[in-house]
Amino acid sequence: MNDLSPPQGGGCRNAPVLKERGQREVFCGLTGIIWLHRKMQDAFFLVVGSRTCAHLLQSAAGVMIFAEPRFGTAILEETDLAGMADAHKELDREVARLLARRPDIRQLFLVGSCPSEVIKIDLARAAERLTQIHAPHVRVLNYSGSGIETTFTQGEDACLASMVPVLKDTQARELMLVGALPDVVEDQMVSLLSAMGVDNIRLLPARRIDDTTAIGPNTVFALTQPFLGDTHAELVRRGARHIAAPFPLGEEGTTAWLAAIAQEFGVSKETFDTVTAAPRARARKAIAQASEALQGKSIFFFPDSQLEIPLARFLTRECGMTALEVGSPYIHDAVHGPDLDLLAAGPQISEGQDVDLQLDRARAARADLTVCGLGLANPLEAEGLTTKWAIELVFTPIHFYEQAGDLASLFARPIRRKAALRLEAAE
Ligand code: SF4
Repeated sequence: MNDLSPPQGGGCRNAPVLKERGQREVFCGLTGIIWLHRKMQDAFFLVVGSRTCAHLLQSAAGVMIFAEPRFGTAILEETDLAGMADAHKELDREVARLLARRPDIRQLFLVGSCPSEVIKIDLARAAERLTQIHAPHVRVLNYSGSGIETTFTQGEDACLASMVPVLKDTQARELMLVGALPDVVEDQMVSLLSAMGVDNIRLLPARRIDDTTAIGPNTVFALTQPFLGDTHAELVRRGARHIAAPFPLGEEGTTAWLAAIAQEFGVSKETFDTVTAAPRARARKAIAQASEALQGKSIFFFPDSQLEIPLARFLTRECGMTALEVGSPYIHDAVHGPDLDLLAAGPQISEGQDVDLQLDRARAARADLTVCGLGLANPLEAEGLTTKWAIELVFTPIHFYEQAGDLASLFARPIRRKAALRLEAAE
């Protein structure tokens, strides 16, 4: 069913990994709130943080269109930071006010930040206390989005991991699909699997708290995002079994991901081919058109979103690019192994960051395209490198067949723009 062939000369799963633990240049985990609050329609994210945290959220949200924000910041003032006020009492008051004003809120996440961690506010204790006060209408959970502890996609991981221990028990044989995808993409995913006869599907996160997501020893789960290492560990702890697969990015990745699930549920080859043939053909055609500018070009990934490994696999195998370095904040074999198997040996695989050393390597490599965070993009552009902002990849629908062409276009655009500018300058 899965006709993906490993690369000649072997993949990168056993390649030596350059591990760096120095200064890193990434957004903090609060950023995930921007896409999570739109996904979970009855949730509210209350950051316990500083004005800096509030500004980060506002500026990140400012580029998005939303009807009614379901996030806010309980700002720690100097008296809190100096330990002169009882932060817990103030938090209880703020939460009571918020929930009285917004009866639509059914799940409240207390999100830790650098300041709340530095002064060690125990948000786990606060969440327990507040759940007792506001149950059964509201469930209160907590996780950390602090920049001291998390890179920007780890915010989603920490959020989903915090939900796993409170999921109901089930003995049913069910498939749990894990990771926040835009609704339209999620609908495509579920409809492909339903068409194959895979029906007992649960989603984490569900759109609403009442959508029954339960877990038990007969649950199998597939990740849709490669940055969910802690959630993976929590799910395994609850007895669920992971269906390891490449991530559903590009035509090949989507086919391999679906095939792994189809195999688990005994879907026949005929059914699989019937369901996937048309969208596969559409995806191949869209990728071929969108990737013309990428053929023969080189790419260098700074570690940022943890999407780097599956993206490198897609861009090298389906778009004709050569990867020079593939950096990822974290590499988990259980999560990233299947993509590393398919990524042809050759690029430097690096984990973590020491930004100055990595900048030296990027300057020496002078790839045709460098994928990095916003903070590094402008300086590198000024040095003549063409860059792609990693953060766009989490704000844009890129998963599954119908988005495969758009995914290639995201990378082709900066290369085309640079070529057009060169042409203009030459005229
Ligand atoms: S959590 Fe830390 S890194 Fe993130 S905005 Fe707040 S202070 Fe800055």
